[in-house]
Amino acid sequence: MKKKVVIAGNGFASLFFIMYFLASPVFPFFAWFIRRIHSRYDITVIGNGVFVYSPAIPGFLTGKRNKAGITVDIRPFLQRRNIRFVEGQVTDVRDDGRTVITDRGTYTNDVLFLGTGPSFRKDDIPGTEEHTYSPCYGPDDMERFMAKLATLDGGIVYVGFKINKTDGFVAGRTGPMYECVCLLDYALRKRGVRDQFEIHFFSPNRNPGEKGVLTDRLREREIILDDGYAPVEFVEGGMVNPDGTFRKADLVLYSPEMTGPKFAKQSCLPISVGGHLDVDRYGQARGLHNVFAAGDCASHETPPPWVPHQAHMAQLRAKAAARNTKAVLAGKGATNRYRHELSCILDMENDALWMHVSEDGKPPFWNIFPRRSKILIRVKGSFERIFLFYLRHL
Ligand SMILES: Cc1cc2nc3c(=O)[nH]c(=O)nc-3n(C[C@H](O)[C@H](O)[C@H](O)COP(=O)(O)OP(=O)(O)OC[C@H]3O[C@@H](n4cnc5c(N)ncnc54)[C@H](O)[C@@H]3O)c2cc1C
Repeated sequence: MKKKVVIAGNGFASLFFIMYFLASPVFPFFAWFIRRIHSRYDITVIGNGVFVYSPAIPGFLTGKRNKAGITVDIRPFLQRRNIRFVEGQVTDVRDDGRTVITDRGTYTNDVLFLGTGPSFRKDDIPGTEEHTYSPCYGPDDMERFMAKLATLDGGIVYVGFKINKTDGFVAGRTGPMYECVCLLDYALRKRGVRDQFEIHFFSPNRNPGEKGVLTDRLREREIILDDGYAPVEFVEGGMVNPDGTFRKADLVLYSPEMTGPKFAKQSCLPISVGGHLDVDRYGQARGLHNVFAAGDCASHETPPPWVPHQAHMAQLRAKAAARNTKAVLAGKGATNRYRHELSCILDMENDALWMHVSEDGKPPFWNIFPRRSKILIRVKGSFERIFLFYLRHL
């Protein structure tokens, strides 16, 4: 009997999981042919069928990226791997992980991998849903922000974030928001209207007067730093300050705190204090057998406080989970752990930084690239092109 592997979600974590789980030295076309004839696994992916390369969303601000260019219909990629696709949403997980309930039916498994991404605490600050935009909600919301920005010849724009630190790491989108504010500055200068705009950067997680390499980049772009600030409410045309006074804002681009998937709450899955799927260093859901999770839906076991939710971390975690899945299906124990690493290129269009911290002190790519240079924009673009080419054609 073939072992049944069910994968929930078709984002970075799930696709990296597939990549490592089916890793083969054979050229992809022949691998497809071989898998048609013989496959040890019966794999099902449950998702919406559309992959979004989210790290490219800030590029909407400069007009260099758009929705069509960064989305991929993932079905052909799965067909080439002889993987069944179910278009649907997971609504519950039962029987210690062996049964997955979706809006399209029920699926049983021998191993379950969860890569369903995060949810955002939009109700933390009232008015978030109605009065703010966010690159974190995907290309459609970012396009709405761009459309509104295009109608303004001047005004006040606020860009900010809030982090959920309850699980001991950075569950929030900090890097992309720094990138967005710098690209917004660049785009307005290019349009010749920068002096007509006031750009503010706010976060209750930044200490007033904070200094550092990122702060320097914001100051040199004349971005006003509202360190330590968060409104108590977003309202039409602005925000309400903690003292009840009104603060004008024509547009707000905001990333709320991140937490785990909503469906997990009523399921049998373990939940961390911060609301993520509670997993150990092997990517295993605590207290359950043969249930793994990786990416933004999952917490970390004893994380360093700087580790963020990132596609890069999703890759490292999915790799360990894929190897452990193979091990448990072969009747062995999970022994593969993953490293904690923050690695991200901040594209400011006229400048770029490689932000990097790792728990073992390893530099990115053997230090062959500079840490600050416009060249990094091309490096970041190459990662995107290679990954999208892989998904579309291999
Ligand atoms: C604007 C922006 C810029 C970023 N920049 C970078 C960067 O430069 N470098 C970097 O490393 N990371 C970056 N990231 C972070 C990175 O995109 C995420 O960490 C990564 O997408 C996480 O992968 P994931 O698979 O966990 O979640 P996702 O990629 O969000 O995928 C989740 C998947 O699950 C599906 N799903 C959700 N709920 C269900 C359900 N109930 N049932 C079935 N399927 C479901 C979704 O449709 C989706 O396919 C950025 C993110 C954003 C938003």
